[in-house]
Amino acid sequence: MCICINCNHITECSTYHLIESQHKQLHVTNNPLFIPKCPIVCVNISNNSSCIQIDWDLVECLSFVEKPNSWNLGSD
Ligand code: SF4
Repeated sequence: MCICINCNHITECSTYHLIESQHKQLHVTNNPLFIPKCPIVCVNISNNSSCIQIDWDLVECLSFVEKPNSWNLGSD
């Protein structure tokens, strides 16, 4: 699971912006100016007979600041 969803920097982070793009999701910001330290992205490729699925998960990051459910805040 991507740790960014519980990070305080999610609304300003350039790396999370990239992951949103890879998942073809709407962006939480169009101005991601924050550059995180040492983010590590895990890319999983699964293949069944009908399609190939690629998942991008950020698994480690030195800039992580815990803020539970940050991804969902402000979406109401
Ligand atoms: S965990 Fe790192 S890459 Fe993810 S939102 Fe936070 S600062 Fe950005």
